[in-house]
Amino acid sequence: MKKILIIHTGGTFGMTPIEPDEQLAPGNIQNQILQYIPEIQNLANIDVVIPFNLDSSNIGIREWEILSELVHTNIDNYEGFVVIHGTDTMVYTASALSFSLRNLRKPVVFTGSQRPLSKLRTDARFNLIDAVELATMAVPEVMIIFGQRILRGNRAKKISIINYNAFDSPNYPLLGEIGINISINYEYVLKPEDSYFHEKGFTKNLAVLSIYPSLNLNNYLPVLDSEINGIILRGFGAGHLPLVAPNWMDFLKKARDKNIMIFIGSHSRHGSVNLDLYESGKEAKDLGAIGLHTMTIEAAYVKLMRIFHQTTEPQKVIGRLHTSWAGEI
Ligand code: ASP
Repeated sequence: MKKILIIHTGGTFGMTPIEPDEQLAPGNIQNQILQYIPEIQNLANIDVVIPFNLDSSNIGIREWEILSELVHTNIDNYEGFVVIHGTDTMVYTASALSFSLRNLRKPVVFTGSQRPLSKLRTDARFNLIDAVELATMAVPEVMIIFGQRILRGNRAKKISIINYNAFDSPNYPLLGEIGINISINYEYVLKPEDSYFHEKGFTKNLAVLSIYPSLNLNNYLPVLDSEINGIILRGFGAGHLPLVAPNWMDFLKKARDKNIMIFIGSHSRHGSVNLDLYESGKEAKDLGAIGLHTMTIEAAYVKLMRIFHQTTEPQKVIGRLHTSWAGEI
């Protein structure tokens, strides 16, 4: 039987509800998993580790490094890895691992749940069974399995706070779906050719600002005085920013004068940022703004945290950003 490592990191999955106020507290997850879902032991030889037990809002660089190190040091000891993680920031951690465990040859499957494992009608049970089975298969990617769908981790977005289908992959096909069988769309799965390597390091010198109509630009100017290498602006549609007062080109000019790189994403989920389509995109591009193409803001944010750790030289930053590392673009 294949060996699978389950890494529990927290989130709703293992929380124990205390009636009647429904306050959620961390449960004794290791016992719970094998008590509530003993049949996963028919799928694989399971080991469980709990490097930390956090609401995923509290997970960041430190935890990403712990997790990637944990998978890396065990890469030859297990056939696959399952990471139980809160849904709120799952896509960030999945992106971080996809950028740390490069040219991965084994499945790393993220999952979690909308209802705790110990509750009636929980989705934790099926999500974990599906995740363990997927981790035994030859799908060499960092994935999310949730609500019977398999998504590339760095392409996924959390789309629902309440539905069991909590994630979507708006700019890339599903890697698979769960029905009677687990069916994998192998044509969309990564086929790593270069050697596997593990890479660490993220910087925090990056900000993300969302643009809204008539937003007071002056409130955002202090960001340009902070210790920062780049700013992602979430624009409209194909990546547009307002040109009438407040004219965001003023912001871009000030950023350029301070050697702060500007990246443009979109409020829209589907399609590609294209700065050549309309006037504001072209103006922004002329001022040095760089489109995020088809990347999710989440994946681009994590990727830039890695890139700025490696280099702040603009041409290198752009080249790395627009090169696929793990199918994120
Ligand atoms: N707040 C929880 C978390 O992300 C929600 C969840 O697990 O779904 O950790």
